[in-house]
Amino acid sequence: MARSKMWALAGAASALALVLTACSSPSGTPAPGGGGEKIKIGIKFDQPGLGVQEGNTFTGFDVEVAKYVAKEMGYAENQIEFVEAKSPQRETMIQADQVKLIFATYSITDARKEKVSFAGPYFIAGQDLLVRTDDTSITGPDSLAGKKVCSVAGSTPAQNIKKEQPNLDLVEYDAYSLCVSALESGGVDAVTTDNVILAGYASQPQYTGKFKVVGKPFTTERYGVGLKKGDTATCTKVNEALTKMVSSGAWAKALDDTAGKSGFKPDDRNPPALEACS
Ligand code: GLU
Repeated sequence: MARSKMWALAGAASALALVLTACSSPSGTPAPGGGGEKIKIGIKFDQPGLGVQEGNTFTGFDVEVAKYVAKEMGYAENQIEFVEAKSPQRETMIQADQVKLIFATYSITDARKEKVSFAGPYFIAGQDLLVRTDDTSITGPDSLAGKKVCSVAGSTPAQNIKKEQPNLDLVEYDAYSLCVSALESGGVDAVTTDNVILAGYASQPQYTGKFKVVGKPFTTERYGVGLKKGDTATCTKVNEALTKMVSSGAWAKALDDTAGKSGFKPDDRNPPALEACS
């Protein structure tokens, strides 16, 4: 075939692709396979080992899982736009189409399932406590009576800790990094959230030697991929990608290279079995 004809055909094909993309995405949602469009993905920006933003660089286990899944769905890395998804805002961000997927230490719960759907789970953590190294008075939820305990509004640990110990003074911020600063300065006595998150903060260079994780997790937090309620097609694609990530060894490698660096050892329920999409 003459070169000019090939180019003409290629041109026609890409024009057709553009038309198809435009037709299939009236609301700006990427066409299946990604097309040339971006995918917006919600992550945490301030959780070491899980989701961290430094300039234009994003790192952490949630970020690695997000990149792997996006790639399997047809999106190149430069087509991903990472958006901060703070704990209290996650359901709303999905409902308002501000993001297509959320990978943000996002526990699957029945209450959240009334507003969004979840693929996964892709990780299991458990709620624990972070205290100052020299504090021997806090050994678990039972010893929190009268103590100032910090967590994040809208998170499962903030809700759960009040049930575990009604006589504590709960301080709620919108990000765990603020709780950890308050723990350092003596403003609070403990921070509570998932063990893997606490281990990440404890291992940050600026906090070396200052904090310890109590190490007796008292809940089961199953991290899911948040998506639009009832979007079974997307959920199925995400679950296929997660299955491949685990079977190929990429999941274990990603964990070692990120959250594992803090010395955190995931418990043996990992990697978890996936839930059916509904
Ligand atoms: N996994 C818990 C949750 O989804 C705590 C961590 C977080 O707030 O992201 O609420």
